[in-house]
Amino acid sequence: MVIYVAVVALAGVFWLGGCAASGGKPAAPAGGQTAKPAAAEQNRKMPPPAGVPVLMYHKIGGEKGNDAVISEALFISHMEFLHNNGYKTLSLAELEAYLDGRAELPPKPVVITFDDGYRDTYEIALPVLKKYGLKSTLFIPVADADRRLSWAELREMKAAGMEIGSHNYSHRELAAMTPARQAEEIGRSKEVLDRNLGQDSRYFCYPNGSYDAETLRLLKAKGFRLAVTIEPGWVKRGDTPLLLKRVWMGNGVDLKQFETRLTREDYPII
Ligand SMILES: [Zn+2]
Repeated sequence: MVIYVAVVALAGVFWLGGCAASGGKPAAPAGGQTAKPAAAEQNRKMPPPAGVPVLMYHKIGGEKGNDAVISEALFISHMEFLHNNGYKTLSLAELEAYLDGRAELPPKPVVITFDDGYRDTYEIALPVLKKYGLKSTLFIPVADADRRLSWAELREMKAAGMEIGSHNYSHRELAAMTPARQAEEIGRSKEVLDRNLGQDSRYFCYPNGSYDAETLRLLKAKGFRLAVTIEPGWVKRGDTPLLLKRVWMGNGVDLKQFETRLTREDYPII
């Protein structure tokens, strides 16, 4: 039994555009995975989880030449893989409890996130997630709410088990803004989300992975507890809660590589 120690792929791999604007992330070759026994048998043999892969999806569809867009067929096969192999999806509230030391991880934990709030998150992803009982989180640039997705649809998604977090108000890079502009955007994103969804938003996603020290200070001041980046790797207890890593998902991540990224924290990145 191998326990994969926390050695996240290093070597300056800021490989992706983050927000599906343009190409992005190449795929990784799969590490030699062997055939699996049945899920229950495998669970018994597994060591305690070393951490949590937080999967980062963007758009689902047929766009060519943009690895931030995953085909519907491949996305569905990812979700079927999670269902058929005993993976347990965590909400961000559950991930927060783990990071705070208030809860331990189940076997095979995974977090599913979607960025940007495309219509396909509602039309394609939601039915599949509901079919398999998978939890997930959508990060929406709040200025785009009621354009791609209506508030009624967002409320329906939330009721179906999808948390809705802030992807800031505009989709522009925070580190390029003045502190005053950052404060206005972050605060407005929370105020509008909270008012329309009847929640106290605590989870944030940096547009294009961009932040600076002022961003972190503002997020804390506004009550945000977790924030996700586009830096590759798993989430582990002891990580800075406002700088959580995620695992890229796109058309380059076939099923073999999907399994590798779920089972090896040091999954290879090209
Ligand atoms: Zn984005």
